[in-house]
Amino acid sequence: MAPPSTELLDPSNARILICDELAPAAMEVFAQAGFTPDIATGLSEDELCLKIKGYHAAIVRSATKITAKVLRAADELRVVGRAGVGVDNVDCEVATQEGIVVMNTPTGNTTTTGELAVALICSLSRHIVRADRRVQSGDWNKKGLLGSELTGKRLGVIGLGRIGRVVADRCMGLKMNVVAHDPYLESTGKSSPVDGVELVSLDELVESCDFITLHVPLMDSTRNLLNAERLGRTKPGVRIINAARGGLIDEAALLELLKSGHIAGAALDVLADEPPTKDHPLLGRDDVLITPHLGASSHEAQFNVAVDIAKQVGTFLSEGVAHNAINAPAVSAKTLGRIARYVTLGEKLGSFLAQRLEGPLRKLEVTLSGDLLNEAKEYLPLSILVGALRKSVGGVNYVNANLVAREHGVRLLEGAEGESYAYQNLIKVRASSQGGEHSHVACGTVFGRVPRLVRVDDLHLDLEPSGTVLITTHNDKPGVIGQLGSILGNSGINIRRMELGTGKDAESARASGFLCLDKTPDSATLQALRDLDTIESLHVVEL
Ligand code: NAD
Repeated sequence: MAPPSTELLDPSNARILICDELAPAAMEVFAQAGFTPDIATGLSEDELCLKIKGYHAAIVRSATKITAKVLRAADELRVVGRAGVGVDNVDCEVATQEGIVVMNTPTGNTTTTGELAVALICSLSRHIVRADRRVQSGDWNKKGLLGSELTGKRLGVIGLGRIGRVVADRCMGLKMNVVAHDPYLESTGKSSPVDGVELVSLDELVESCDFITLHVPLMDSTRNLLNAERLGRTKPGVRIINAARGGLIDEAALLELLKSGHIAGAALDVLADEPPTKDHPLLGRDDVLITPHLGASSHEAQFNVAVDIAKQVGTFLSEGVAHNAINAPAVSAKTLGRIARYVTLGEKLGSFLAQRLEGPLRKLEVTLSGDLLNEAKEYLPLSILVGALRKSVGGVNYVNANLVAREHGVRLLEGAEGESYAYQNLIKVRASSQGGEHSHVACGTVFGRVPRLVRVDDLHLDLEPSGTVLITTHNDKPGVIGQLGSILGNSGINIRRMELGTGKDAESARASGFLCLDKTPDSATLQALRDLDTIESLHVVEL
């Protein structure tokens, strides 16, 4: 599909589809600005694929999934507005590829969700829900309902972002000892953003806390963050609270540890599959409290996010300014349409370098060459920053990227020298860690409509930056690639494309390899590769 039209729309011509129930305040905001949205809730993916045609904007809460299929079926769609913070129900990568802006309302439900987590902590510690069920069924009896005080108990907050900070703050008021783990805050060496909350390692948090509450986004790096091994190392009698996203906890492992009595209770507002099937093993247990994804369900939060998204979508369609965009700079839709594929490329370069670097990222130096890129030099560096931060920071976008980078001690600078290659437009990025001991360079351009990685450090190559890339430093002698190929092949992994080079290290008989794989190698396969005498180092990058 061609990138969406960038013409500004008169509100009377703009077609907006509201796909989930929104607070009525949104309709008032739209009406005041002259828009008349349509409402069609509860559509299946196939129904939405048909319905979406001709609409310029789609607004969702969390029920409707804006999948790749829906985005590709849309012929006029310019913006997807998510009334809420998490955008995991929208395929943002495909939206970006298609030049469709995805925007969220990052702050409207922070307090409400934080307060739910606090309510779950209180309910769990005093068996409130079980007790109520018992009394409602006519049984006035406190047997088995002996609770625990919160005062003096250690609470571990995983993810000290907006919601995590609300929870930490409120729980200190309950006289709990609050510690938190957040790799970004930790790596900056900064003191905790919440007075009285100590930053600790994930291991220390997991092993020492009486209550553990999760407030991180669901991403590749956080999926199953509380896996069987970590859950197994928790303190006996621990209580686990998840009001962030299903998928952060290994539910099967949680169940086993509840059954054994090691974990005293779990309060879950979210599950890996929602809604759960009737025979879901976590249902019907006395030690598990489940709410139906209620985090943002308060009058205040629903009002806030509905008003915010209506204002943002209206402004984008009629003025071309994208506030709180996940995948686009706050630039006019016209400029965005022209640079959309370089925005994707910038994100990939940032993500590649952040993953390639040993140690936390501290500096990104960006050099843009070519007329098109110079037109967008205020915005493209942001795409690199967003790509570099997004693997670890939830909700980072083009509006808040600079702020988030400052909070996390990452500097974005204009690079010194340009490149004299024959590329019409080229992005060059140098990423450095603390003190600059480690640094890597990557260059990219767009051929036709496809972003390409054309240089990494001293090696000139031509790779599409997508999927799994295995980067090797190995002995430059015959047979090494064959060894790699057979270990990967034995694990059922196909090498889609490969680039090799000796770069600067030619004299030291060292070579580098970039192998695009059709899936991510498991840890045993990686170990087998690392065990080869000929392999000096190995790195997996997910793009
Ligand atoms: P946020 O971006 O402000 O905070 C997330 C924090 O997690 C960041 O500080 C980040 O550095 C940290 N983080 C990232 N990876 C981590 C890791 N591996 N270990 C520890 N910390 C890590 O986001 P927020 O507004 O606080 O929201 C958090 C999440 O809550 C959202 O992503 C969303 O999925 C969920 N949420 C759920 C509901 C609900 O209805 N239950 C409502 C709103 C938000």
